[in-house]
Amino acid sequence: MSEIRKVAVIGAGTMGAGIAAHIANAGVPVVLLDVVPEGAPNRNQIAEDAIKRLLKSDPAPFMHRSNARLVTPGNIEDDLAQLADCDWIIEAVLEKIEVKHAVYEKIDASRRAGSIVSSNTSTLPLAMLTEGMNEGFCADFLITHFFNPPRYMRLLEIVPGTATREEAVRTISDFAERQLGKGVVLCKDTPGFIANRIGIYWLQCSVALAMDGQVPIEEADAVIGRPVGVPKTGVFGLLDMVGLDLMPHVLASMAQALPQDDPFHEIYREPELVQDMISRGYTGRKGKGGFYRLKPDAPGKVKEALDLETRTYRKAQRPKLKSVAAAKRGGPRELLQHSERSGRYAWDVLSRTLSYAASRLPEIADDIPTVDRAMRLGFNWKYGPFELLDKLGPAWFREKLRREGMPVPALLEAVGDGYFYRTREGRLQYFHPERGYVDLTRPQGVLLLSDIKRQGPPLTKNKSASLWDIGDGVLCLEFHSQMNSLNPFTLAMVKTALRKVPRGFKALVIYNEGENFSVGANIFLVKAAAKLRAWFLVDFLLRKGQSLYRDLKYAPFPVVGAPSGMALGGGLEILLHCDAVQAHAETYSGLVETGVGLVPGWGGCKEMLVRWATNPDRRGGPMPPVLRVFETVGLASVAKSAQEAKDYLFLRPADGITMNRDHLLAEAKAKALDLAGSYRPPKPPEISLPGPTARAAMSLAVNDLRRAGKATPHDVVVAKGLALVLSGGSTDITEIVCEGTLLGLERTAFMTLVKEPATLARISHTLKTGKPLRN
Ligand code: NAD
Repeated sequence: MSEIRKVAVIGAGTMGAGIAAHIANAGVPVVLLDVVPEGAPNRNQIAEDAIKRLLKSDPAPFMHRSNARLVTPGNIEDDLAQLADCDWIIEAVLEKIEVKHAVYEKIDASRRAGSIVSSNTSTLPLAMLTEGMNEGFCADFLITHFFNPPRYMRLLEIVPGTATREEAVRTISDFAERQLGKGVVLCKDTPGFIANRIGIYWLQCSVALAMDGQVPIEEADAVIGRPVGVPKTGVFGLLDMVGLDLMPHVLASMAQALPQDDPFHEIYREPELVQDMISRGYTGRKGKGGFYRLKPDAPGKVKEALDLETRTYRKAQRPKLKSVAAAKRGGPRELLQHSERSGRYAWDVLSRTLSYAASRLPEIADDIPTVDRAMRLGFNWKYGPFELLDKLGPAWFREKLRREGMPVPALLEAVGDGYFYRTREGRLQYFHPERGYVDLTRPQGVLLLSDIKRQGPPLTKNKSASLWDIGDGVLCLEFHSQMNSLNPFTLAMVKTALRKVPRGFKALVIYNEGENFSVGANIFLVKAAAKLRAWFLVDFLLRKGQSLYRDLKYAPFPVVGAPSGMALGGGLEILLHCDAVQAHAETYSGLVETGVGLVPGWGGCKEMLVRWATNPDRRGGPMPPVLRVFETVGLASVAKSAQEAKDYLFLRPADGITMNRDHLLAEAKAKALDLAGSYRPPKPPEISLPGPTARAAMSLAVNDLRRAGKATPHDVVVAKGLALVLSGGSTDITEIVCEGTLLGLERTAFMTLVKEPATLARISHTLKTGKPLRN
């Protein structure tokens, strides 16, 4: 396998720019080329503008702004020579075969032999792309189909041609998996590959059948959403999000490319409504609105929905559906067999979509896990089509198809009364029509807790957390409460872990496969205690968390935190006490307690002070670290990637970052074992803090912000509590402040603030809306 040290991306549009940014996120330099705009004095204008756009986009394509420095803009006329030292050249120009061919001629004349060339096409067959190209080019050529936005969408479809070198496929697959964090799915050279082939069919079915059955779009989205494991945007919300203008083009090219007997043609219609909307500027969220919009000129945010029949907007409804309630209780089958209109609609869409997926094998993929993975990663479905069929019961589904006079796909006949997946002796197996049940093997470097769970029960478990033996002497502490918020049960399991590791283990890893590592302490409990004025309970929880986190820090074995998703408040505080962190690149971390009118109280202020005070880059006396933490915590700053977390010292410079979520546990475990070799617990830090003068300076600064209208009255109260902790209380710069003193200050500030009615109002508001209250 060769190494990818430098990449070129040709075409600096939506996809090309996003792909370039993500390659820079992996630390690899990229040349980004586009055409020379006619008459423009700056020949690199398009690529330069693209980089500026990337820096302004939200969500951010760059994991860190400084990654932009790795992207060099250029143009396809003056900078072709730069292709000679690129190992991978990605074409992401217009979806027009003649444009692509012309670009390939240029690439081939300038590239180094053996460099890999790929196209990001979504619809053009590889055979057509390489037509007329020489043998060497064909051997080095493949399709790499990224999804939009490239940083966030995990799917990468790779389509090799008949002439493509195997080594080229391996090199790109490996680079994409490890360094770009993608889930690579190998596809065949068929229209729409896997995800769009099924996804576009599903979208078209959902839209067409909603129109035919006059199902309001809110109702359609309520059923073809959460109840079947699809993101809550449903179908119409998804179309608004990706942009309606893409739809006619994609539908037309599918209609043109698919063979006449493909069931797609039965549900395909000219998207006349969508065309009409586009022509009037209704292109979705990026335009004047789409199937949904916010009512123009209305005070507040009034959401409107398009009535499919009258084609006018009306106030969006929140349908209360019995079918959805039934699915909540009994699973998706209850939805699909519900007699309500919405249940009938769900069956109409899913019977077709799942049958379509089942009858596309082996045409589009060799096995069912490939299809499931593509749909999970490319469309964010919670379950792929075969996983969903297993939830419904393949035999039940087949019989219902039969009863309704619909064709039954051969694969559904073949699976008989069985399921598409099963577990045998702790191994996950999938059904293959010729080979029976086959073990599902994971790529090298992948270790999943979900696989370990199949092999047997945890060592111990309570309702919020479990301990797992993950092999080689490493214990894993898993949180599994709602959003992994922390509560007395979680803390109890930390305590059990502290006891268990010395009895037969070498190290502890804190990891879970929830959407979020942890959103922090369960503030519902704080609210409940505050309402009862049961302050002793709050104090008890504070002390418990502080002492357990401290015990983790000084335990006689290494502790490695391995977060992914949100690691906020108490969730970040536990990571701050770990010996090392191996973070997934998409980790969003912050001490956000001030947002709910509190201060970090489980050692977060203390650890942040220590980190900044002992930071080797520190200059200028004792004040700068204190002010830095004051600003970070006071503003409840959240780092929107693991790379950004290093700026705030939420992660230390030496902490590791794993791009691929599926590799996180293996890398955290390796780190823990590495530390276990010659492990010594850390020595308590010796820091000194400036005391009352600093506190006064911080208070003055907050008063100024209040006068300037930049802080609310309660912001001032909270910030002064924080200033008390961070200044070190009544200390002065000649004294060493011990950890116990800082923890005591955290408790004092926390207990004072939690009794404030304005804090309670913030907590209640956040629990209700998920947003901070600015009181
Ligand atoms: P786009 O229109 O946003 O960008 C295309 C860019 O190519 C433009 O900046 C254009 O100036 C440039 N270009 C045109 N001719 C060129 C040439 N001869 N040399 C260099 N640059 C040239 O398009 P996009 O949405 O980024 O799509 C690019 C490719 O990715 C297409 O093949 C498309 O099918 C595919 N794709 C798009 C999406 C998506 O969601 N937009 C998703 C997956 C794949």
